[in-house]
Amino acid sequence: MSNSNREALRIKKLPPYLFARIEKKIEEAKAKGVDIISFGIGDPDMPTPLPIIEELCQEAHNPANHQYSPSVGMLSFREAVAAYYNKTFGVKLDPQTEIINLIGSKEGIAHINFCYVDPGDLNLIPDPGYPVYGIGTLLAGGEVYTMALLEENGYLPDLTKIPEEIAQKAKLMYLCYPNNPTGAVADKNFFAEAVEFAKKYEVIVCHDAAYTEIFYDGKQSPSFLEVPGAKDVGIEFGSLSKPFNMTGWRAGWAAGRKDIVDALGRFKSNVDSGQFQAVQYAAIKALTGSKDSIVELREIYKKRRDIVVEGLNRLGWNLEKPQGSFYIWAPVPKGYTSASFAEYVLDKVGVIITPGNGYGKYGEGYFRISLTIPDERLQEGIDRLEENLGKVEF
Ligand SMILES: *Cc1c(COP(=O)(O)O)cnc(C)c1O
Repeated sequence: MSNSNREALRIKKLPPYLFARIEKKIEEAKAKGVDIISFGIGDPDMPTPLPIIEELCQEAHNPANHQYSPSVGMLSFREAVAAYYNKTFGVKLDPQTEIINLIGSKEGIAHINFCYVDPGDLNLIPDPGYPVYGIGTLLAGGEVYTMALLEENGYLPDLTKIPEEIAQKAKLMYLCYPNNPTGAVADKNFFAEAVEFAKKYEVIVCHDAAYTEIFYDGKQSPSFLEVPGAKDVGIEFGSLSKPFNMTGWRAGWAAGRKDIVDALGRFKSNVDSGQFQAVQYAAIKALTGSKDSIVELREIYKKRRDIVVEGLNRLGWNLEKPQGSFYIWAPVPKGYTSASFAEYVLDKVGVIITPGNGYGKYGEGYFRISLTIPDERLQEGIDRLEENLGKVEF
């Protein structure tokens, strides 16, 4: 019997990796010597700011950091997160009880399910959305109820459309603003609606705040925790990855309602043994340091956003500039599906875009462009599209 036959159902039932098919096509194209430009994966192209790297190097030399550390994170790390919330959002958090370290926010986004979801339980999942929400749910034996994010609603879920019996049964509700993949932002009114819903149905809100620092035109994106009552119903997942170009470092946190933070801590103390303290010192440096590097980063993404949106609009798209995240979400032209358009663009001009159906069924008919490639490659990719696609129709 092959080993794969002995895999647990939770592994067998995992959907195929989003980029598997496109990665195979990329390999084939590269083997043929095609110069591929990838607008695919959302992983910042620029390096981590120098002071953060230097802090890591210095702390890596300290033997005190070579041992196991607490699963909840060093208190000084949690204090730095609290100070960051106070400074950025005016939100007061108790570092002892309301904040926990995560080995990248994805870790907590997945693991929270094991704290609240029993087999057969239901979670409310945005679609299109970051795949980890639904997959984390399935890994814990839970079931997914899809909240459609539609263009006509500004890619916010319509909470009044969730049937009463579903709302009664639901355990967790995931939200993410600024949003991956749509680039949509939410205001505090929407978060207040979510708080009200969560109170009424005793649902736990899990807000993924990975892009809170990536916004444009001067409008700071709110933290979910800014809204009155938020701390009674949920937690927010924060990440160093996007604001500080630190995806490889694996540094994040969860903050909010005490007993939820505590449950996640109890789970984590059984599956990991804390994050390397030198990484935590580097994260403290990032969170408490000057915000100049983030301001600069926003300027770079803004310029890239404008190049892509204006370029696509010259070809016949009619896109508005997104207000947050570093993604452009756009409909595919007439006659294409998400997959067939992505393949067409790769074959015809050697540009990789991400098919929207990889983010859920409501992503079908769309594609995503990530702004995380150097300016000149980004410009070249857009030039190639302009030269080869001609005017598109919808
Ligand atoms: C990049 C990203 C994250 C961040 O994950 P880390 O594990 O902190 O690197 C979380 N959520 C979304 C939607 C993302 O795109």
